[in-house]
Amino acid sequence: GPLISVRNLSVSYNLARTGTTRVAIEGVDLDVQEGEFITVLGPSGCGKTTFMNVIAGLVKPTAGEVLIDGVAVTGPGPDRAVVFQDYALLPWRTVADNVRFGLEMQKKLRGAGWRERVQEAIELVGLAGFESSYPRELSGGMQQRVGLARAIVAQPRILLMDEPLGAVDALTREVMRDEIEKLIAATGKTVVFITHSIEEAILLGDRIVVFKSHPGAIKEVITTDIPRP
Ligand code: ADP
Ligand code: ADP
Repeated sequence: GPLISVRNLSVSYNLARTGTTRVAIEGVDLDVQEGEFITVLGPSGCGKTTFMNVIAGLVKPTAGEVLIDGVAVTGPGPDRAVVFQDYALLPWRTVADNVRFGLEMQKKLRGAGWRERVQEAIELVGLAGFESSYPRELSGGMQQRVGLARAIVAQPRILLMDEPLGAVDALTREVMRDEIEKLIAATGKTVVFITHSIEEAILLGDRIVVFKSHPGAIKEVITTDIPRP
């Protein structure tokens, strides 16, 4: 069966200040196979982040459910890691300590070999030599490489990326898009990648899930036939 199964998923937010409810997504169905790279494309506010956050276990469904390997998601877990648009690094920690945090979150610091895993993740994203730097000393692209290393260090099966290149400068964005593509192809991870760049969606996705807005729902799923590297 599919690795991720999204069934009739709806999420509404209660807006405490006005006492009203906002429907963010409604009736979303999607199966994602192991190893698939899914890009989610749609205008701002159409519910992409909400959709990803439910898969991450950070937002609870109002209706429907998300299953991972047939088991309902009830919260975050070591099988999933998230890369955020704003990197979400700990500013008082070095690159190596930020990456180590990816293991701490999953309680995988015990046992031998964690130092090697941190180093391996840092090398995979091309940051060897920057282990002792602090986030503020790095460019946006490099900071997002740290975010990527922190996500992959605990070896999750599923990578959830929320506009990971949205805050990276235009020149670096293209380079990093190709790096992400190669990294994912090499590791065989299942990816849900949110973007509002049509180009990114086409070049990265095995399938493009197009959302429509108000309330967010799947408008179309497009299968691409671009060969993976
Ligand atoms: P996207 O990622 O496509 O921009 P979001 O999932 O962030 O969309 O938001 C979908 C809708 O839900 C928007 O109307 C947004 O204002 C609303 N929304 C998102 N998060 C919250 C929240 N925590 N509380 C209330 N409304 C929210
Ligand atoms: P460790 O690496 O020893 O696990 P951290 O790197 O999390 O610890 O924190 C290092 C120090 O920074 C701690 O003394 C902690 O209390 C402090 N600290 C925690 N939050 C912040 C913050 N937002 N800004 C600056 N320092 C912080």
